[in-house]
Amino acid sequence: MSAQEASFIGGVHVPPSKGLTDKLPIERCPVPDTVCIPLGMHIGKPAAAVVKPGDKVTIGQVIGKAGGFVSSNVHASVSGMVMGLQKRYMPNGMISNCILIKNDGLDTMCEDLKPHTDAELTPEFIRTELQEKGIVGMGGATFPTHVKYAPPKEGARPIDTVILNGIECEPYVTCDHRTLLESADDIIQGLKYFLRASNAPKGIIAIEDNKPDAIALMQKKVANEPNIEVQVCAEKYPQGSEKHLIYACTGRTVPDRGLPGDVGAIVDNVGTAVAACRALRDGIPLYERVVTCSGNGVNKPGNYITRIGTSYKDIVEKAAGGVKGDLGKIVSGGMMMGFAVNSLDYPVIKGTGAVLVFNHESEFSDYVEPHNCVHCARCVDACPMHLEPTVIVTAIKKQDWDAAEANYCHACIECGSCAFQCPAHIPLVQYIRMGKLFIRGKGNGGHNPYYQVPQVKK
Ligand code: SF4
Ligand code: SF4
Repeated sequence: MSAQEASFIGGVHVPPSKGLTDKLPIERCPVPDTVCIPLGMHIGKPAAAVVKPGDKVTIGQVIGKAGGFVSSNVHASVSGMVMGLQKRYMPNGMISNCILIKNDGLDTMCEDLKPHTDAELTPEFIRTELQEKGIVGMGGATFPTHVKYAPPKEGARPIDTVILNGIECEPYVTCDHRTLLESADDIIQGLKYFLRASNAPKGIIAIEDNKPDAIALMQKKVANEPNIEVQVCAEKYPQGSEKHLIYACTGRTVPDRGLPGDVGAIVDNVGTAVAACRALRDGIPLYERVVTCSGNGVNKPGNYITRIGTSYKDIVEKAAGGVKGDLGKIVSGGMMMGFAVNSLDYPVIKGTGAVLVFNHESEFSDYVEPHNCVHCARCVDACPMHLEPTVIVTAIKKQDWDAAEANYCHACIECGSCAFQCPAHIPLVQYIRMGKLFIRGKGNGGHNPYYQVPQVKK
């Protein structure tokens, strides 16, 4: 596909609102006095704690061992003493066991961390090391990266393309944009490791056309890399969705209930490539990440390297200059796919790209009462998965799970495009998310002990 055509059908144009932070170089968030590190911060089985209260730990030390193949190790992000294990709510409403560590302020690195020579980095070693070093998708999905690079099953289509996702179509979020500008060499090296692990002949770095500086830099950096190219994609939401990015870059459609591997592709976030590069080349586990803290509710919006387990409160107060005005709305993640949360007492996890804070002067702080559907079909036009959101939601409201499934409830990628367009302000995504949980047999509230099954008259 040409640069002009690299897009998809459906989706919406959302105001990018990135001007508060896209020109600001990445800074370090001061290291907090305590961190709260969840053991279930990735897709799959949570890690199992291998430390106990009173243990002394160093940065990069394994504190949680992967609970299975689809799982990942968890590491200490500060040096200090384990204070305890605690169950805590995550922004998505689930509960995770967490390890609390009191920082001793010494920043002592784990002595076991050693760089690897290039000859050591065989495909098998890369896969093992990605799990050992806790590398998971940092674009928000937190899928363990080593699983994507497992050899394809016999007879399966071989992987021929690895796509690095530098799209970052979520409003306000700029952590990937700044990573593209400030860690370009590590991104390319990470992509080379991914190509080696998958034996794919081609790598693509995909960037939305609203980041001309990053496009120019990356094009210059890969000018002499015969198997890596930069794909410019049109600015549209949700261009960063895995399926839509594969379509834009290759013209291939991932089948319903299928995976990128079914069409010979793997997609990884650019931040994940940096983390993989540092894990594989330098032996450094994933214990910190770049977080955008933005919105009109903080005094100093910015992009901050933040230790995993740092509370949102510590980022806002220690790095972002404190809350500006009356606290209105807090969003964990992006405006479209993130979760509105009730306080700043949540920890940064490996998938936390942003913490957005708005005060009462922002329109986002206002609660808007939903109305009845006016059957305008704007949600249908907006849906990049070509679903009929209003039909699915009607089925879910009636608890008619068969009808919800017959209308492809499972195929919803929870992008929020439908709700963004809905003039009746119906919380379509929340209904669909709840419907999916019920259909998956988690209708008892999943891990949430306080959840009550709603009694709805049929
Ligand atoms: S139904 Fe799902 S996939 Fe379609 S627009 Fe709404 S949230 Fe996105
Ligand atoms: S956009 Fe909202 S009001 Fe219009 S059809 Fe969809 S759910 Fe109904």
